[in-house]
Amino acid sequence: MSTSSETLPTIEELQRELSEKKQHIYALEKANKQLEQRVRSASETAGEPASITELEETLGRLVARIAAILQAEKCIFMLYDQNRSELAASRPAFGFTDDEISKLKVKVTDGVSGQVFRESKPVIIYDAATDDRAVHENVALLNVRNGACVPLIAEKRDEENRVVERNTIGVIHVFNKRYGNIFIEEDINLLERLAKNASAVIQNAQVFREVVEEKQELEHIIESVYAGLMMVHKDRNIMQMNTSARHMFGIKATDVVNKPYYEVIQDRKVKDMIARSLDSDEETAEEIDVVLPDEPDEEHIYQAQSALVKGESGSTVGAAIVFNDITEIRNVERMKTAFVSTVSHELRTPLTSIKGFISTLIDDTEGYYDKATQHEFYTIIDTECDRLVRLISDLLNVSRIEAGRALDLNPSSVTLPPIVEKAVSIQRSYTNKHDLVIDLEDDMPVINADADKIDQIFTNLINNAIKYSPEGGEVRIVGRKGEDGGVQFSIIDQGMGIPESHLPKVFERFHRVDNRDTRKVGGTGIGLYLVKHLVEAHGGKIWVESEYGKGSNFSFTLPKDIPLQQEETK
Ligand code: ADP
Repeated sequence: MSTSSETLPTIEELQRELSEKKQHIYALEKANKQLEQRVRSASETAGEPASITELEETLGRLVARIAAILQAEKCIFMLYDQNRSELAASRPAFGFTDDEISKLKVKVTDGVSGQVFRESKPVIIYDAATDDRAVHENVALLNVRNGACVPLIAEKRDEENRVVERNTIGVIHVFNKRYGNIFIEEDINLLERLAKNASAVIQNAQVFREVVEEKQELEHIIESVYAGLMMVHKDRNIMQMNTSARHMFGIKATDVVNKPYYEVIQDRKVKDMIARSLDSDEETAEEIDVVLPDEPDEEHIYQAQSALVKGESGSTVGAAIVFNDITEIRNVERMKTAFVSTVSHELRTPLTSIKGFISTLIDDTEGYYDKATQHEFYTIIDTECDRLVRLISDLLNVSRIEAGRALDLNPSSVTLPPIVEKAVSIQRSYTNKHDLVIDLEDDMPVINADADKIDQIFTNLINNAIKYSPEGGEVRIVGRKGEDGGVQFSIIDQGMGIPESHLPKVFERFHRVDNRDTRKVGGTGIGLYLVKHLVEAHGGKIWVESEYGKGSNFSFTLPKDIPLQQEETK
């Protein structure tokens, strides 16, 4: 830095200044080496990276040193942002407020920064108020009078330390506001030398930031995946365990990292599995049963799979274990097996009865049975055949829905009371234990619907109300006018009711409440599934309220008209 011409420095002063500067440069090179080492360790999986704050501190010291060496009042880096084609001031800077830093930006085509960046050549600003380039960049607003700006050039070197690539990554500014403290060529040479070191530091810092950000991003992804995930280092300590995995094992603490897995996890199967993977370099899979802390009544089935994590040299660093909740899959499989056996049973019962009565009639060559008894037998055969047809058409409808096709609707103007009365009278003929009561509001509206399907809905719900009230009691069918010319019905029984945990599931296919009471009642678990689809195909809603041991209330609504969408999917 030159001082004003009247006070020319002595040789001793210059020598002292030079030796000070040499020391600063030496310190700077040392800091850079340390930083390089940190970055290297941060890129390695096992290494503990230095924090971003530490890095910023190093960069902060760097700008302060540069300012000190050049006797500048302010020093700032402006880094190239490729996406925006601009140079933006970067933190930390020396002598600038955070607000100034965030506002200092310029397009690469403009200003003094743009020129230095594009041409990769230094520039001295003698007067920020009159220099066009500086005016363009609003340099004077920074309360400075003169400055120097040199490019930040990052060099890539090969193994023999030869420069193989040079990249301009930004510019560095030093400023002074005092009049007379003009920067000269010598300062530029010094600044260029410092800029070389600074570029290396900045580049290292950028790589470091990227590594840290990538690591954080990965941790966030792992943390938020639905499956349980944990990673165990070969030294037996947990490297990571996401929320789902911690929840699965009922672990409240979040600081399980670096703790031995066998102290954190209690499940024997999982512990054995991890030990096997780490000891024998083997990838394993297990099915484990877990009772989640917030669902103590239900057992969840998880499929645990371990995979080995290899380091760059190919040796095992640890193991990653993924836990997938397969409870639903297993339940559906179980339900399907149960369904096949109940359907076989449901098919066999009417067939056995049909075959029995037909054989009896064929064998009666002597005319032992009178006309009335024969008629009774034929009626039973007829009813059982109807039951078979119903069951088979239900099965076909289920497969239709499963295939994603809508149920066929054949809409017409439907007067509801006669449909209810017919369905009730048929169901009444099957029971003498139950009191079937029809309670309909006067002037029930006529709606646009498929009469057969509406009949199917009532038949199914009233039949269930009877089936699941083995002790008898009242079955009440309540009908009221609903919103916008629609209707609402409720089928209320005093039967066995439905346990609360099953309430959300009774409309699922194959779902049956499995207990001592229901086991005696025949069924396939597809009735309510179809009823729900039929109601929804009409644009209505269905729901259930029930008190276990007291009775159930199945309610549904039907609108005045079938919504367009449903009609179109026919
Ligand atoms: P299912 O052929 O088994 O009757 P549904 O789909 O009609 O099949 O009913 C599913 C399950 O819901 C039944 O197995 C039964 O456990 C329960 N359920 C249905 N209706 C009633 C009711 N009115 N009272 C008590 N439980 C019922």
